Amino acid sequence: MPEPMENKRTLVQRRSEDDVDLVVIGGGVNGTGVARDAAMRGLRVALIERNDLAFGASGNSSGLIHGGPRYMLNDPHVTATSCRDSGYIQAIAPHMLFRVPFLMPVENKGQAKIMFALTDAFFEAYDRYQPLKRGKKHAMLTADEMRALEPGLRGDMIGGISFDEWGIDGSRLCTANAVDASEHGAKMFVGCTVEKIERREDTGEVVAVAWRDLRTGQTGRVTTSTVVNATGAWAPITASLGNIAPTRARVRPGKGIHVVYDRRLLNYAVSARTIDGRQIFVAPWQNMTIVGTTDDDFYGDLDTVRATSEEVRYLEQGVARVFPQIHTARAIGTYAGVRPTLHAYGPHEDALSREHEIVDHTRDNAPGVYSMIGGKLASYRIFAEEMTDMLAARFGVGMRSSTHERPLPGGDKAVDALKLATSMEIDPVAARRLVYRHGSRSLRIAERVKETPREVSTACACEPVLEAEVRYVVQHEWARSVADVSRRTRLGLGACGGMRCAARCGQIVAQELSLRPREGLQQAMDFLAEKALTRAVALGPEQARQEALAIASVRAELGVEGPLAGEDGAL
Ligand SMILES: Cc1cc2nc3c(=O)[nH]c(=O)nc-3n(C[C@H](O)[C@H](O)[C@H](O)COP(=O)(O)OP(=O)(O)OC[C@H]3O[C@@H](n4cnc5c(N)ncnc54)[C@H](O)[C@@H]3O)c2cc1C
Repeated sequence: MPEPMENKRTLVQRRSEDDVDLVVIGGGVNGTGVARDAAMRGLRVALIERNDLAFGASGNSSGLIHGGPRYMLNDPHVTATSCRDSGYIQAIAPHMLFRVPFLMPVENKGQAKIMFALTDAFFEAYDRYQPLKRGKKHAMLTADEMRALEPGLRGDMIGGISFDEWGIDGSRLCTANAVDASEHGAKMFVGCTVEKIERREDTGEVVAVAWRDLRTGQTGRVTTSTVVNATGAWAPITASLGNIAPTRARVRPGKGIHVVYDRRLLNYAVSARTIDGRQIFVAPWQNMTIVGTTDDDFYGDLDTVRATSEEVRYLEQGVARVFPQIHTARAIGTYAGVRPTLHAYGPHEDALSREHEIVDHTRDNAPGVYSMIGGKLASYRIFAEEMTDMLAARFGVGMRSSTHERPLPGGDKAVDALKLATSMEIDPVAARRLVYRHGSRSLRIAERVKETPREVSTACACEPVLEAEVRYVVQHEWARSVADVSRRTRLGLGACGGMRCAARCGQIVAQELSLRPREGLQQAMDFLAEKALTRAVALGPEQARQEALAIASVRAELGVEGPLAGEDGAL
């Protein structure tokens, strides 16, 4: 919970000589959420993101905009907050939310009947929150009913419970917040790392934030009186850039991975248990299936987090007990992120609180610096509102937050995907995807195609993604590489793993950014190499050999020689 508003200090004058009132560090959901809210309330904002929007936990989460029934016992406030915010997020971004109905099998072992009745009672309590997020009530189902709904279910079960959640593409959510912040005047520095938070020696006040563009090496400085450290699991490191003890922005980083399979194997998400009793799930995800997630203390490099084959096997084993069909699908990738969980010494990782907290570093003699710690994707908007309330009070800005009622870009009106498909003369699936990702702004992409008909060509067939969309996200959403385009459009994330589209995408990015064609190709090969590494841990030896051959042939075809960035012989 944020520290009480009474703790906030005296009013601070907005200094006209400053470039901005506020620098937000971090382009995850919390950083982009604060940037949007603050810019909408009239503050002058700059957002600095080191890698890419949604590069961290926000783009690598399970994407559930849920209440998290399992938090209800220890953290009912988290469940209530998330459900309330889920309702708001649905209202402001209706195009991006999709229903994720869950089935939870109850095993027929031990005191199964009592367990079943208790589980039913537990979900009855969860039902109280469902109206907040337009969720349906749970249902108690027999084993036959469970199998009728999801024929792939196996194992000896007494029955099961259905309950209702929502999902979102976390990368699109961050991008939409960033676009709106920018349209309300925020300056965006994507791909720029903050190197120092400069403070006055005598008073400790913030003077400026120094940054460096990681690709071009260009450096710069933004003058400001106020900094929000919204860098998730990086928060302690970021605090130390302002000479603040890392322990004052402490998190307990928890690594989580997902495995992605090449097709949609089921229509419901099914919850399962790992060998040590942790809850995991298998779920339909767009045209794929995902299995997630682990939760392990993480001590490694936050900028290169990858799944391991042990983690993949641990998850597959748990899921296969209730859904053995998982073994029939082809694993086509993994992704991994690190939760910025509130610090506590002692509890197991999955028992840690998912609450959020704002640290006002005035107590560390750093007035004007705040750290946002913890939280969830599902409650990001409320967290951002609480943070911005403190900023508004600091600057004497009376305006209240309106982020719960003003639509995110694209969320203002519904677009009929079938009509769009007809007018653009594209496949209905491609149109549906475009509408999912961009809402009413898909019409802007349609407009591009009208003006330049050749942009209707398909850049990525698996997902599918049009050339016009690739150009649009480079021009309007700060994508600067094939990997950035992939995060915003899912290009290269389908069954072919980018083999058929990365080079074309690199070409387009190079054209749009006036890079040398060679740089576009290199970007494509870097993307393929990185994806191959994330895939390798989920492959059997046979598939791994085929993979290595396929990459070598793409390389030969493109005429790329020498080692690729990130290549370490893992294949
Ligand atoms: C595996 C997994 C599953 C999850 N599932 C769910 C779920 O289903 N539902 C849910 O509600 N929540 C879920 N979460 C939690 C949720 O994703 C996080 O709480 C949330 O995304 C944190 O957002 P953030 O903005 O604080 O951090 P992040 O998204 O990690 O963003 C921090 C950003 O700071 C940037 N940065 C770091 N250092 C610097 C610097 N020096 N200069 C500039 N930028 C910097 C990083 O590049 C990064 O982009 C999950 C998390 C994980 C890891």
